[in-house]
Amino acid sequence: MIKANKELFNEPDCSINKAKEAKERIKGCSKPVPGKASGGCAFDGAQIVLYPIADCAHIVHGPNLCCSHSYFTRGTRTTYKEPLYNYGFSTDLAETDIIFGAEKKLLNKINYVNDHFKPRAIFVYSTCVSAMIGEDIDRICKEAKDRLNIPVIPVDSPGFIGKKNYGNKLAGEALLKHVIGTGKPHNTTKRDICLIGEYNIAGEIWNIMPLFDELGIRVLSKITGDSTFDELTYGHYAKCSVVICSQALLSLARKLKEQFNIPYIQGSFYSMKEIKKTLLNIADELQDKPLRKDILDLTKRKEVETYKKIVPYAEKLKDKKVFIYSGGVKSWSFVYLLEELGLEVIGTSTRKSTDEDIEHLKAYFEGKQKILMEQGDGIKILELMQKHNADLLLAGGRNRYTSIKGMYPFVDINQERLHAYSGYKGIIRLAKDIYNEFSSPVFKIARGPF
Ligand code: SF4
Repeated sequence: MIKANKELFNEPDCSINKAKEAKERIKGCSKPVPGKASGGCAFDGAQIVLYPIADCAHIVHGPNLCCSHSYFTRGTRTTYKEPLYNYGFSTDLAETDIIFGAEKKLLNKINYVNDHFKPRAIFVYSTCVSAMIGEDIDRICKEAKDRLNIPVIPVDSPGFIGKKNYGNKLAGEALLKHVIGTGKPHNTTKRDICLIGEYNIAGEIWNIMPLFDELGIRVLSKITGDSTFDELTYGHYAKCSVVICSQALLSLARKLKEQFNIPYIQGSFYSMKEIKKTLLNIADELQDKPLRKDILDLTKRKEVETYKKIVPYAEKLKDKKVFIYSGGVKSWSFVYLLEELGLEVIGTSTRKSTDEDIEHLKAYFEGKQKILMEQGDGIKILELMQKHNADLLLAGGRNRYTSIKGMYPFVDINQERLHAYSGYKGIIRLAKDIYNEFSSPVFKIARGPF
C-alpha cells in the first residue's frame, strides 16, 4: 500500500528548512496542492533519478501516458552498451484493470521483461491510478524477487503524493532501502567518493571524470548518471559524498552520513571557480593534503588551457548582456561561468533555488544593479530583456519559443540540452555555442525591414 512518507517532507539539512522559524519548520516542505504537479509529478521525479541506471528495467504500473510523461525528454547518457531505459515498460492500466485490479498483470509484465530483456534488476513504479485502486506493489515485487532471483524494487511514487522534487526523494528512499548497502566493491581506496544527484545529461559526467582520474579520486558510485546497478549497491563504502544538485537528493546524502558515517559536501562543476572550490572541498573532507596540492596544480593548468581555448570566441562574447532563466545551482553557477567567458549577466531567476542558492547570488550581485526573478513567464522574460537591452537568453527548452518570439539568440541549459557544459570542456563548449548563436545571420534578417 502507498503511504506518504511524512519524514521526507521535513529535511533538516535543507537550507530552506533551516532558515524557517521553528513554528514554520514543523510544517515541513510545502505540501502538494491540486494542479501543482503540472511541472512534474512525484512519479516523474522518481523516474528521473532512477532511469539513468542503465542495466535495469523500469516498469511503470499505470496507464501508458504516465510512462511517456518524461520518457526520452531528458538527455541522460550512458557508456552501457544497450541501456534498458531506451524501453518504456508499462502495465498499460485500462478500465477493466481499475475495476478488477491488475496485480496479476503486473506480475506477468515483470516475468515478461525478465525473460526477454534479462535486466540486472527491475524497478516498479506506482502511479496515481495503481495507488488509488490499492495495488500492493510491495508484495508483488517481493513475490517476483523470490521467484526470479533478481532484485525487484518497488518505488512508491504516485503522482498525486507530491511534486517532482518529492519524487526525487522517494527514489532516494528506494535506493537506500533496497539497493545501497547490499553489495561490496572488489577493493576500497582512501579516495573513494560517491557522486549524488548528477544524471549525466548530455554527458556532463564525462567532462568531470577525467579530472577525478587525473587526481587519483575514484568515483565508487554514481547516483545515478552513467551508472549500473552494482556500483550503487556498494555506494556506502565511499569516504565522502558529493551532492551535485542541492535540493533533490540531500536527504539521501544525510542518511548515508547517519547510517554509514559518510560525510557529504555540496558542489558544482559549472565554471572554473566552482570546479576548483568543489575539488578542494573534497580534498578537505578526505583530509588529504597532497590531494589539495595536486588540485591546485591541476586547476591552475586547466584554467590557463581553457582561457587559451576560448580566445577565438572572446571578441564576439565580450560585454554581451545575458539573462539566465534557470533554477537551483545553475542560477548562480552559470553566472560565474558566463562572466568567466566575458559576458555580462543582467539577472537570473531564482525559481527552484534554495535559500543558499539565493544567498550565493545576493552576495555576488551585491552593489550591482542585477535582477533576481522569482517566478516568470514568457511575457515577463521578454519585457525584462527589452528593458535591459539583453542580447541572449539562457534557459530551458520550454522558453525556446519565448526567445524566438523576441528574436533573441538562445542556448538551452536545462534537461533537454544537447551539449554538456560542466567541467573545463563544458566551458569551452558553451563559449562555442553562444558564439554560434551570435554568428547566426537569422537574427539580423528577422529584425531587419520586411
Ligand atoms: S503518476 Fe499521476 S500525475 Fe504523474 S503522470 Fe501519472 S497520472 Fe499524471
